[in-house]
Amino acid sequence: MKKINESFICINCWKKISQAEKTCRNHCPYCFVSLHVDWDIPWDRDTDCWWKMYPTTYETRNWVLKILFKCSKCFKQHRNKRSPEDEITQLNNFIDLYQSKF
Ligand SMILES: [Zn+2]
Ligand SMILES: [Zn+2]
Repeated sequence: MKKINESFICINCWKKISQAEKTCRNHCPYCFVSLHVDWDIPWDRDTDCWWKMYPTTYETRNWVLKILFKCSKCFKQHRNKRSPEDEITQLNNFIDLYQSKF
């Protein structure tokens, strides 16, 4: 499996996102939108959905914050750890904002 960990442009807010430190980044740290490429194993590209996924809720377990994302096309849901770079104080606002997407 090839890991993809390159800088990219966010498809939602168009900000440039630099490489993640340790993990493959799969959501935007500014607006929390990601692409539904695959989510059972990140980045194995097992789907051709390629629609936007939005955060819908989150939970904290063992001090690790996990964000639940939902695809706005096929409604598949996927949990993902937050990144240290995430603007986490904005997460609640974005979750409210994206409720209209579904
Ligand atoms: Zn973004
Ligand atoms: Zn999808």
